[in-house]
Amino acid sequence: MQSINVKTQAHSQGVDITGQVQKAVAASGVDQGWCEVFVPHTTAAVMVNEAADLSVLGDILNTLDKLVPWDNGYQHLEGNSAAHLKSVLLGATVRLPVQGGRLALGTWQGVFFMEFDGPRSRKAWVDVR
Ligand code: ZN
Repeated sequence: MQSINVKTQAHSQGVDITGQVQKAVAASGVDQGWCEVFVPHTTAAVMVNEAADLSVLGDILNTLDKLVPWDNGYQHLEGNSAAHLKSVLLGATVRLPVQGGRLALGTWQGVFFMEFDGPRSRKAWVDVR
């Protein structure tokens, strides 16, 4: 198991971690298999989506903001329930195929660490087997 460190810069942000995940895959020495990425945070998530045109990432973040307003009569006293909800919607894990020692992503796909209550120092676990 390897870890990736992510320093987020904004309250809501997607960080392209494809290169870091790819490095972990290379370091694992696995040629054919699966790579799992797990985010050990309750106000962040991981997703696979468009990495070529980053306006898509902006649309995803803006739409999540509309779907899950920051103030919405939540009970959680910490005041960041919207971030918890977005984390639930996107999920803490992605599973990616590995072929020829590399991530077998689609042409336009990238792996994103999704921050919903930053900026913070975050981490993701990567397991390749
Ligand atoms: Zn909270």
